[in-house]
Amino acid sequence: MLGVYVHIPFCDGKCSYCGFSSFVKTDDEKERYINSLVEEIKEFAGEKKREIDSIYIGGGTPSILPINLICKLFEALKENFKWKDGLEFTIEANPCSLDEEKLSFYKKNGVNRISLGVQSLDENQLKFIGRRHSSIEAIDAVKLAKKYFDNVSCDLLIGLKDMDENAFLAQINTLAELGITHISAYMLQVEEGTRLHRLVEKNKHLLPTDDDCVDVYEKMTDKLAILGFSQYEISNFAKQGYESYHNFKYWTGQEYVGFGLGAHSYLNGKRIANDTTFSGYYDRIHTIEAINDQQRLEEHIMLGLRCKAGISKIVMKTLGYDITTNSNLVEFVEKGILNQQGDIITLNPDYYGVSNYIIVKLLPE
Ligand code: SF4
Repeated sequence: MLGVYVHIPFCDGKCSYCGFSSFVKTDDEKERYINSLVEEIKEFAGEKKREIDSIYIGGGTPSILPINLICKLFEALKENFKWKDGLEFTIEANPCSLDEEKLSFYKKNGVNRISLGVQSLDENQLKFIGRRHSSIEAIDAVKLAKKYFDNVSCDLLIGLKDMDENAFLAQINTLAELGITHISAYMLQVEEGTRLHRLVEKNKHLLPTDDDCVDVYEKMTDKLAILGFSQYEISNFAKQGYESYHNFKYWTGQEYVGFGLGAHSYLNGKRIANDTTFSGYYDRIHTIEAINDQQRLEEHIMLGLRCKAGISKIVMKTLGYDITTNSNLVEFVEKGILNQQGDIITLNPDYYGVSNYIIVKLLPE
């Protein structure tokens, strides 16, 4: 079934590492954007209301929107889609822009999952990456979100300046004690064109080494397992029953439609990408790429092995690849690196850290 992604490209400042489509804009510009989003949703829906089973409002910072604007967006989503019972509805929020009024409004309108951009609970690290919240504000935001929502996820970054293994694990403990149900922990990426990139260019030793990051990642996965979070994707951990259903669509080749600046859709075997500038988006400029079997096969292997869904021998065969002819498969299964259960092959989570190497070895020779 179809999933919906909506991109809100507004933030109240730019973090030093940010390579996402996010901008600081006035309230009038935000209103113009939301009006355009509503039109785009209507144009897609046409006369028929397609059934959807997930909505993900991401950004940027969706919680920055005032209630009157988020209300317009919610109404458009209700009027133009048929919401399946039990639909997963996530909204991303940042600690600075979340309050009781917004949380209560989200809840009344069907949101059932909050994803909070915490990133770190270390004051110096937060300052270093240009976040506008303090550690206390992040903790207060988690507590507030938990007052309204059972399902609260937090994003954390691995590889920040002065990373300390024990301090990082203590942050995980603190968040777990607050009752969160999901953690997404990403390796800090230094993207060209960001402030962080310029700093790293000047001082190559500013950030921890890759080896240090892998060590912390491995200790983190052990810690999260003890705390009852199971790893269902390379960067994602959840209490039982709290895996993000929407994200599975991306990893398992299901259809989704994306609305907004820079948003992507995957529909009828085609990937559609909206323009990443406001003017281009308002003019509905987009690119369309037909995905061929070779690309579909590579995506199936690359994405499937990074999550617990795994890869299917039958699916690969329909895409022209008999993986049982790959000599590396037997070796990886014998060594316990891969698990085989009937049609499905999964990567043992202990080897997520070296998944790129395994994936390359399993691609058609
Ligand atoms: S809050 Fe997120 S999207 Fe906004 S500037 Fe920071 S990293 Fe970028």
